[in-house]
Amino acid sequence: MAENERFDAIIIGAGIIGANVGFELSKAGYRTLNIDKLPAAGYGSTANTCAIIRCHYSTWAGVAMAYESLFYWRNWGDYLEADDERGLARYIECGGVYMGNEERYTDKVLPLFDEIGVPYEIWSTDTLQERIPGIDIGRHSPPKRADDEHFFDEPTGQLQSVVYSSAAGYITDPQLATHNLQRAAEAKGGEFRFNTAVAGIGTEGGRLTGVELADGTYIEAPIVVNVAGPHSFVINQMAGVADAMNIKTRALRHEVHHVPQPDRLDFEKDGFMVGDDDIGTYFRPEVGGNLLIGSQDPECDPQEWIEDPDEFDRELTDDQWRTQVFRLARRLPELGIPNTKKGIVDLYDVSDDWIPIYDRTDLDGFYLAIGTSGNQFKNASVAGYCMAELIQRVEAGHDHDADPVKVTQRYSGLELDMGAYSRNRAINRDSSFSVLG
Ligand SMILES: Cc1cc2nc3c(=O)[nH]c(=O)nc-3n(C[C@H](O)[C@H](O)[C@H](O)COP(=O)(O)OP(=O)(O)OC[C@H]3O[C@@H](n4cnc5c(N)ncnc54)[C@H](O)[C@@H]3O)c2cc1C
Repeated sequence: MAENERFDAIIIGAGIIGANVGFELSKAGYRTLNIDKLPAAGYGSTANTCAIIRCHYSTWAGVAMAYESLFYWRNWGDYLEADDERGLARYIECGGVYMGNEERYTDKVLPLFDEIGVPYEIWSTDTLQERIPGIDIGRHSPPKRADDEHFFDEPTGQLQSVVYSSAAGYITDPQLATHNLQRAAEAKGGEFRFNTAVAGIGTEGGRLTGVELADGTYIEAPIVVNVAGPHSFVINQMAGVADAMNIKTRALRHEVHHVPQPDRLDFEKDGFMVGDDDIGTYFRPEVGGNLLIGSQDPECDPQEWIEDPDEFDRELTDDQWRTQVFRLARRLPELGIPNTKKGIVDLYDVSDDWIPIYDRTDLDGFYLAIGTSGNQFKNASVAGYCMAELIQRVEAGHDHDADPVKVTQRYSGLELDMGAYSRNRAINRDSSFSVLG
């Protein structure tokens, strides 16, 4: 009988975060293996991410992590220390405009920006209209569905001001960014196996021993990291760790829509990423003169929790399409309403408070980088670095549950208390409980 293969660490998943955990661990000297049931890196939920980079989160840790992530994306090639025959993903730092909830910005977000050093300006609505010609400054909140009888009511007032931050943008090709990380990990000795599903987690005497594949093969490793995205809860059930966790994860279906920008705008050249709390929507430039529109999960939007992440409807619905496009048309009245629906459907891996879990588990050797709640693409490298630090310290005997690991960040020097991402934290009431984190 052939001997079992053996690695220092197995990472379940090769999305942007899984590939980044693989890279950071291989860089730290571990012999790593990323296993993914899909055919290539970044083919899971990462493939359909909006890949927006922005710092306006609701907690100190949220803003700090996003701020640190900017340094990685700005220095992507240097960070990778490796070439990719397909070229490198690009970070377009077009800047971001946040509008529609002055109270939230003034009370919550801007004090965090001041403390951490995120650059921003307050724009008058005149400046907004100069920078985005044709934009409407009416106040329409609360966000409504397109079939709400009050959807087309006159605005109840006007926006007072908006926040602009130069520290925001998007990644042009998230799948390519993941492939870049794969090549970077491989250059450090990391391995990737695709079209390979993990079907079980092996344990002995309360310690993890490796993974069992769907074809029955067993691969040994003292460390396994669950980075399975929307399948995270399935893997946790396999490992028998789910019940003991205070914070759980679930898969949530989400639609993103693409529409041609109004003729007067050239968003790819001089547009912004826009977060609009007033209409419950965000949008950003998309290649080919399009705008990409996502929902900020306002209360009126139905939430479709998915029990089996391998089985969900990937067709856009008329209802959500109309709602999103009509919302944007209120803000950009020159927007044409296309006859055909375009966009994508995918799953968020949502935690109970929409803040991720970057942690160990009660099963020694089994770690989690999950619950990314539609807002952690940008933070993949920070998460990868923090996970590698956390794993090394826990494996060296540190009691992370009693005394949470603190990680001094590579570029900003900020200190992240990993207790903020614990599986056993109390639900964080400062969270927006939405994709905003
Ligand atoms: C529509 C949408 C829009 C988003 N927009 C943004 C945004 O603008 N900005 C932002 O920062 N974030 C955004 N996000 C969130 C971000 O994309 C995710 O947080 C990130 O891509 C998650 O990466 P991951 O590696 O954890 O998971 P994934 O990319 O989902 O990778 C998990 C991998 O695990 C594999 N896997 C699962 N089960 C098994 C198994 N049993 N065996 C082997 N492999 C398995 C899957 O095949 C998959 O490839 C968005 C997400 C979505 C869905």
